[in-house]
This record gives sequence, C-alpha cells and structure tokens, in this order.
Amino acid sequence: MSARPAFALAALAAGVVLGGCATTTAPGGAPIDTRHVSVNQDSRVLFVVLHYTVANLADSLKVLTGPRDEVSAHYLISDDAQPVVYRLVPEERRAWHSGASHWRGHAMLNASSIGIEIVHPGFRERADGTREYLGFPKAQIDTLIPLLKDIVQRHGIRPERIVGHNEVLPQNKEDPGPMFPWQRLADEGLVPWPDAQRVAAQRALFERQLPEVTWFQQMLARHGFAPLAGGVLDEPTRRTISALQMRYRPARYDGTPDAETAAILHVLVTPP
Ligand SMILES: [Zn+2]
Repeated sequence: MSARPAFALAALAAGVVLGGCATTTAPGGAPIDTRHVSVNQDSRVLFVVLHYTVANLADSLKVLTGPRDEVSAHYLISDDAQPVVYRLVPEERRAWHSGASHWRGHAMLNASSIGIEIVHPGFRERADGTREYLGFPKAQIDTLIPLLKDIVQRHGIRPERIVGHNEVLPQNKEDPGPMFPWQRLADEGLVPWPDAQRVAAQRALFERQLPEVTWFQQMLARHGFAPLAGGVLDEPTRRTISALQMRYRPARYDGTPDAETAAILHVLVTPP
C-alpha cells in the first residue's frame, strides 16, 4: 500500500503542478509552500545511549516491548552467532531507556537520544558476592559499529555524545560496564579517546600532588556528568568517578581518585 497516489490526487485537486513546485495543502485547505528551507536546523537526536540488557533475548524482547516494565529502546542487538538488530521503536519516536539522565547540560535524554540495548548478561556474581563483568562477543560489536556509524551520520551526532547508560545515570546504572570495548569505538573514529602521551605526562604531575576532591567534581561536571558539589568524596562522587574509570581505565574502577584518573580527566577536558 502506498500513500503516493492519494497525495498526487489531493495535490492535483488543489491545482498544484507536481515537480516544479513543492506546494500542497494543509488540513483545512490552506496552501503549504515548502520552497523556503531554513539552514538553521538539526536533528532532534543529539545523543546515543548504549546499554546491556542483563536478560536473554526472549526476556529482553518481552521487557522492551510489553506494557509491564514501561521501558524500551530503539534498537536491540541479539546475542545470536550472527546477531539480529531488532528495531523496537522508530527513531523519530521517543524510546524509554535512560530515565532521569544527564549529559553535558542536557537532562532526561530519552527525548533527545537513540537507545541501543545489547543482549548481554553484564556480569556474573562470584561466591563472595563481587561481580565478574563479562566480555562482549566480537560479532555483537561488529554489528553495533556500522549501526552506530549510520545513526551518527544521519543525525550528525558529535563523538562526545555517544555515551553509556552508567555515564548519564551513574548513581543507578553500571551498563554497558567495564568490559564494553570503548577503545574499539574510538579506533573506529566514533568516540574520543584521551591521548596516551598526554595522559602519561599529566599523570607524572598529579603523582606529585593529587588534586582535591573539588577539582574532580568540577572536572567531571565539565566533562559532561551531572553536577557534583561539596568537595567531599561521597557516594555520588565515587560512583561518578567509577563510571569514568569503567570507560577509560577499566583495569580499576573503584571510584577512588588517583593520579591516572585525574590525568585522563584533565586530558579529556582540556583539548591540546
Ligand atoms: Zn541501561
């Protein structure tokens, strides 16, 4: 079924010649003239937020499409050997995936983002109750990257606006976790990555004197995280530092400020 014949008939009925002139009629009969297009516009989609589902494919589909949990995502990447990309919500509609999120001065990112869920357990709990985070199959990342490139290209999304759920909601979320291969996305030109030489030089300086907690709070906010205050290493500050570490220094993400974390943050926030 195509809407085109009906459109053509309506346009002809309105006395419009198709082809040379892009005029049609609005509901109510007033003419719509689309010949003057403003350059002052961009996509409503400003961010991409990446997630893992914890659940398997069948449960993920149920949760993300059914009425019970009131959550969804635009895309779901399956964990099949040859992954399938499920489009659960059209890109021009809002999906409900990022909650009371914040990034770079924008809040409630559902309205301005595309959400991508990856079918993945996230972690396994060890006998002592600690988590062992699990790696992502290469096939899923190989599926994600061209999808991301296409989204970025169509919507003009800036590299620093491709983020993890844990970065936009560090107090509640860990996904996509410390095993997500952010560096591979950086190698593909999709996201920024701090220059290793600059980090090493800056780290040597910070090893002599570690910045105060206030400095970390200010720099984390400047990087994009929700504002932190008080100058105290409280739970919100630790969780935010941990989110930064999960992405850029996944070998240790305990939320403790250290010279390497400070150096990474400094380089991310201070362009060369
Ligand atoms: Zn999530």
